Amino acid sequence: MLVNRIQPKDLSSPESKERFLANLPPDLGNLIGGNTTCLEVRSEKGDLIIIDGGTGLRMLSKKLHYDKKQGIHVHFFITHFHWDHLQGIPFCDLFFNPNNRVTFYSNNPNLQEILANQMVEPYFPIRMSVFPAKLEYVILKNEPVKINDVVISYREVSHPGGCISYRFEEYGKAFIFSTDTELQTSDFIPTKGNHSFYGGVNVLVMDTQYTLNEFISKENWGHTSFSKAVEFALEYNIPHLYLFHHEPNYSDEQLESLRQIATWYSEKFHNKSIKISVSREGERIYL
Ligand SMILES: [Zn+2]
Ligand SMILES: [Zn+2]
Repeated sequence: MLVNRIQPKDLSSPESKERFLANLPPDLGNLIGGNTTCLEVRSEKGDLIIIDGGTGLRMLSKKLHYDKKQGIHVHFFITHFHWDHLQGIPFCDLFFNPNNRVTFYSNNPNLQEILANQMVEPYFPIRMSVFPAKLEYVILKNEPVKINDVVISYREVSHPGGCISYRFEEYGKAFIFSTDTELQTSDFIPTKGNHSFYGGVNVLVMDTQYTLNEFISKENWGHTSFSKAVEFALEYNIPHLYLFHHEPNYSDEQLESLRQIATWYSEKFHNKSIKISVSREGERIYL
């Protein structure tokens, strides 16, 4: 169906491709995806890092290729414990293989207890302790973690109940994942701490759930407007911004139009051009 609609002119530029996708009828246009937060990060050496266990974790665990007899070591970083970041954990195949080893990381000292408590009756029929995989828990204490050559650091961001954003760096390339973040004025101040965390970053995946209007009426709800995220990326010279944590009520077309407005805002108001993308399920980003 989709292939029959494509004309050569639709493939002529990144803009024409975006236009083609944005103009698809709703039954063909749900290409951005509606699963909740879960990312797979791979190091150069193939280490497997997963960030958050939202509903996307179920499909990710089914699609992973690895030797089931040998098992795999999963480094599982949690940003915070809201439902949309945990709901895939009970349905994740990785936990049902006794040869797998899963190391969870969080700055919350009650990490193990919090994860276990979301799998008790009446919420779920089996407990987390039933998972045959070897589960380990690491409490982050302000020091970066190293997995082979990947250095992972984190910082607390403004969000109800707390949340952390992660910075992954390997061989001079860096990526920041900052979901469920309400950017504060203090995040824009060029302190040493801000520059060491946000500086020298190639790709920023940032919570941009709101428009500016929505942000004004939803102050302190813990999310950022896309215009503020653009200003933030410009402030730290980050060349590629991914809009993330989409408003669940928005269609693919609305998200694409937000991307276009964000690009326009960057170019017209700040006279600077950066790449802005809408995060899509299954998309691969190479650093
Ligand atoms: Zn949240
Ligand atoms: Zn969330």
